[in-house]
Amino acid sequence: MDIKLNEHFLDVKETYLFSDIAKRVKRFQEENPGREIIRMGIGDVTLPIPASITSAMEEAVKEMASKDSFHGYPPEYGYEFLRSAISGHYKAIGADSVTPESIYVSDGAKSDLGNLPDILGDNPVIIPDPVYPVYVDSNLMNGRKISFVNGTKDNDFLPEPPADTDIEPSVIYICSPNNPTGAVYSYEGLTAWVNFALRTGSLIIFDAAYEAFISEDKPHTIYEIPGAESCAVEISSFSKFAGFTGLRCGWTVVPDTLEAGGIKLSKFWARRQATKFNGVSYITQKGAAASLSGKGFEDCLANIAYYKRNATMLANVFKDRGIYFTGGVNSPYIWLKCPGDMGGWEFFDSILTRFGIVGTPGEGFGENGRGFFRLTAFGSYENTKKACDLFRTL
Ligand SMILES: *Cc1c(COP(=O)(O)O)cnc(C)c1O
Repeated sequence: MDIKLNEHFLDVKETYLFSDIAKRVKRFQEENPGREIIRMGIGDVTLPIPASITSAMEEAVKEMASKDSFHGYPPEYGYEFLRSAISGHYKAIGADSVTPESIYVSDGAKSDLGNLPDILGDNPVIIPDPVYPVYVDSNLMNGRKISFVNGTKDNDFLPEPPADTDIEPSVIYICSPNNPTGAVYSYEGLTAWVNFALRTGSLIIFDAAYEAFISEDKPHTIYEIPGAESCAVEISSFSKFAGFTGLRCGWTVVPDTLEAGGIKLSKFWARRQATKFNGVSYITQKGAAASLSGKGFEDCLANIAYYKRNATMLANVFKDRGIYFTGGVNSPYIWLKCPGDMGGWEFFDSILTRFGIVGTPGEGFGENGRGFFRLTAFGSYENTKKACDLFRTL
């Protein structure tokens, strides 16, 4: 063919991270038949969806089977019952300003993160390093220029806004609690970013996918920070909170107060969604709503408490061993410094061969991930306990 392709896709680095990991694990298994593998590399939940939620979905399935209660295309931005439930959740975590009308229900945070650049022009993009790779790749695909702010041991992987005063209006990505580092911004830390965005005329895209893991006094949503309703959209998800990674449901908040060049961002986002997206199934939205109230909510919190117990157990081992790490408190992730100045892959091979433990080398999340390592607490209690006993011998 002679058509032109979007050659910006060539700028996206092929990532071999997870296929590389799979290859090394496979080789290890072939060379060590029968040896147990403890998988702590997964970024997916493992506990099933609580019955209090699946039963709401079963009811919804029955409704679909009856002429009187059948539902066709869902409303483009989500059913009112779910948008209200999400708005209610925001009130409960301390943000009164998030109205049901500002909430756009979607099939997940990753989709929204990937689609948001559709409504934005050619702005400079500021992204922390290390980071969840979707932010970088979705901007590269649109030919955007990216600059990085560094997360390092010195700032405990919570980069501060650039000190320069003459920064062009930019699009800034923030993920807190962070994947992969588990680090969470304090009120002061997040306020600094909101003030920076307000001062430079920038937009913050705030990823709150791990909000429900916060147990210390840290901001659950960017809308707890004064001024955020004039400079930030927030993206969140039922994936890690309610175990919906396989069901698919998330949302984006676009406050009506967000404007650029006299145009409301909500107008463009509404248009984008109505044009390219036909909504989330009624059944899924019924399940999502059930996860935000009564027994469903309690059951989700219990699952999160299960993962957090794993995280605490891991954190305690590295604390006792004097190994530097972030996360493990308000997050299912532990981000540790590889002992003895090892690189991430070297440490990967070392704990695989010695312990049969699989994790993720920090190198997969950016330059600053070099020599760091991500472990997840999404496994079973029994396996995490076994891993902890092994790590104690490091
Ligand atoms: C898991 C995760 C999400 C959730 O994505 P979904 O598409 O809703 O499953 C979003 N952001 C980060 C940083 C994540 O780790």
